[in-house]
Amino acid sequence: MVGAMNQKLAEILKKLHNGEINRREFIRLAGLLGLSVGASEILSACAPKGTPTSTSGAQIQYEGYKTVPTSPHTFLTPEATNTPVTPPKINTWFCQACGERFSKIEQMEAHLLNVHVRLLPEINQVDEPTFSEYLVNVKRFDEKNTIFSRIAWDEEYQQRVGKVMPFVTQTDPSFMEGNALVAGAIHVDDTAGSLHPYYPGYFGHIREFGGLYNWEDEVNPKKYKIEDPAKMSERIKQVGRFYGADLVGITKVDHRWLYENYFEPFTGNAGPVEMNYKYVIMLGIEMKWDMIHLSPGPEASAATALAYSHMAEISASLAKYIRMLGYEAIPSGNDSGQNIPLAISAGLGELGRLGLMLSPEFGPRQRLCKVFTNMPLVPDKPIDFGIQQYCETCHACAQACPARAIRFEERTTEQTSISNRPGILRWPVDVEKCYMFWQENGGIDCANCVAACPWSLSPRRNIFDT
Ligand code: SF4
Ligand code: SF4
Repeated sequence: MVGAMNQKLAEILKKLHNGEINRREFIRLAGLLGLSVGASEILSACAPKGTPTSTSGAQIQYEGYKTVPTSPHTFLTPEATNTPVTPPKINTWFCQACGERFSKIEQMEAHLLNVHVRLLPEINQVDEPTFSEYLVNVKRFDEKNTIFSRIAWDEEYQQRVGKVMPFVTQTDPSFMEGNALVAGAIHVDDTAGSLHPYYPGYFGHIREFGGLYNWEDEVNPKKYKIEDPAKMSERIKQVGRFYGADLVGITKVDHRWLYENYFEPFTGNAGPVEMNYKYVIMLGIEMKWDMIHLSPGPEASAATALAYSHMAEISASLAKYIRMLGYEAIPSGNDSGQNIPLAISAGLGELGRLGLMLSPEFGPRQRLCKVFTNMPLVPDKPIDFGIQQYCETCHACAQACPARAIRFEERTTEQTSISNRPGILRWPVDVEKCYMFWQENGGIDCANCVAACPWSLSPRRNIFDT
């Protein structure tokens, strides 16, 4: 049996190397082959080396940063220093699955294929999202309390942020080049996501200003007849991928995950969120590993920014397609509701310790956006590939966080601030500390936790891309 499986694996590997199938098809075929030896085995095979078993694990050091206390009980935020930040240089490739190092990426690919590919995780469809057992008394959340909204109104937090000194020297030419890289990446969202004059990208729909996230676009009065909603759902996924999404899933709109009230930091407008749509199509957009792994430098920030530009384009394109078929559709970025629980419900992944969704394809290395619609569709089932158990023993993200914003200990219902939604037993991220670090980092957002997660680069990631 094992011999036959190995032979099949060799065949599909050959096809991959000959370019007869792409990476995604390879993963699908390998999954169908049942090459997984189960989530528990990949968990032990891929456990990062040096994962702390206690809260006092060693911390990754970044050049230019002062050492910070490792105890989350004593640590507040990193102290400012005038030493410029130099993003850590990675001269060798290392397998995040087992820690082995290689001088060339081709060698690491071969290693991953030969050593780890057979350990593909088992992905099971389940009836309820795996976070469901951790919901205690969840209520709708107010967008005004997100950390990005609080920057606009929370004077106490504004003062704390204002006191933070950047670590970087602003005149450094590399800082200028890094900023340019980010500016180019966010350009589409910045200029076309919303037409509000102060919209800088990153937020999504701003009422009454139009742009790619426009809600008011005309719907074709002539309806396309949908006789088979399952077929239409497959078509929607095809079209979503054609427009550029890497992941597409459908779920029913669960109002618990919609904001109770919206808040627009540029206009100060706020009001109840009413979404009378039955379905939401969740779209995942990969953030490229070759940039993300350079966090906390501007390259990683640019990878995030570029995904935001793609979010605006892809969700707007899909909404347009649906409207042209005679059905209402609302493209949405970070506005309207929380993308993570909706995407998990749509079968795109599971919730991880770092507060983001991990997909089997990219780990936490994707951004999410969505399209609400009443087009008749069939929702997908959520998936379970073992992340709840994995994160209980892995602390790589917490260890890599320069702000000590990610919890080392067990799940809790405690909140670190009003920016955590109450009623969920989980690892709440201290987003106040996280955002503060971004300021200290010269206003450059950080993705250390994403880069450190072993699922960001594993046997199932884009290791086959050239
Ligand atoms: S993004 Fe925030 S939570 Fe993640 S590592 Fe950086 S500072 Fe920590
Ligand atoms: S989210 Fe954090 S704890 Fe979970 S697998 Fe990724 S790095 Fe490990």
